[in-house]
Amino acid sequence: MKPLTILYRGPLSSCNYACDYCPFAKRVESDAQHAADAFALERFVAWVEGQMGREISVFFTPWGEALVRSRYQKALARLSNAQSVRKVAIQTNGSCRFEWAEGCDKARLGLWVTYHPDQTTHDEFLNRVAQMRSRGVRFSVGVVGLKEHFRAIEALRAALPSDVYLWVNAFKRIEGYYAGEEIEFLTQIDRLFPLNNVRHASAGQACRTGESVISVDGDGTIRRCHFVKTPLGNLYDEDWERILQPRLCPNATCGCHIGYVHLERLHLDQTFGEGLLERIPSE
Ligand code: SF4
Ligand code: SF4
Repeated sequence: MKPLTILYRGPLSSCNYACDYCPFAKRVESDAQHAADAFALERFVAWVEGQMGREISVFFTPWGEALVRSRYQKALARLSNAQSVRKVAIQTNGSCRFEWAEGCDKARLGLWVTYHPDQTTHDEFLNRVAQMRSRGVRFSVGVVGLKEHFRAIEALRAALPSDVYLWVNAFKRIEGYYAGEEIEFLTQIDRLFPLNNVRHASAGQACRTGESVISVDGDGTIRRCHFVKTPLGNLYDEDWERILQPRLCPNATCGCHIGYVHLERLHLDQTFGEGLLERIPSE
């Protein structure tokens, strides 16, 4: 059986930060909503643990912040130790403590950590980075390339150890947002910035999603990726595997790293290698 990557996004939709462009900012969920998220997560983790004979990588891409919840910390520990799992990674704002990482097989754990300069201080964020490093956790650090954060981005790059990759996500909501010298500046910070600063033409292009990569929600609904909403099946059906087949992208463009890394013509599996999910380039 071929390896499979699952992008999991359960019902969780809350965050301890308050970024003003984000719908989950300081959103609080009820006990019943947390219970529903916990139920869905437990079901998913148990399903992955029960898969024998197929190598699975799991990437948690929550709406909001999951790692401040002990259930997600425990899920990472369980999955990183599961026989069926090759890699487990998660997107996080890095605000949690990291003791839980000691229960993980760190060789199979990866964190995608986003720095939010208006939600935490430079020193506090670097302290989190130091904690992850001292515990031997693999991670990338990144930031949205808002112009008002350029000085903070520069200061972070200067302070980070040189072997820590700092990615910059282009702010694409405003067409032509960056002047030429701003693109140059951000490319000096992140040599792969130009790759993120475009919406890649994807219509009719081969993309690994729907074949070796799938997106799964809390109910088990399978979609090929987070950006194509058509359901393909359900992970908890006995015949779920029948949906896995080579597919072409139906969307005009793909502008998000967690999507376009699977677009075959970009060959980004070669650029990122084993760090594809947590966004750590191997070259
Ligand atoms: S940290 Fe992420 S999820 Fe939380 S408010 Fe900011 S952008 Fe939204
Ligand atoms: S190219 Fe992007 S939008 Fe198209 S199928 Fe792949 S991940 Fe989805």
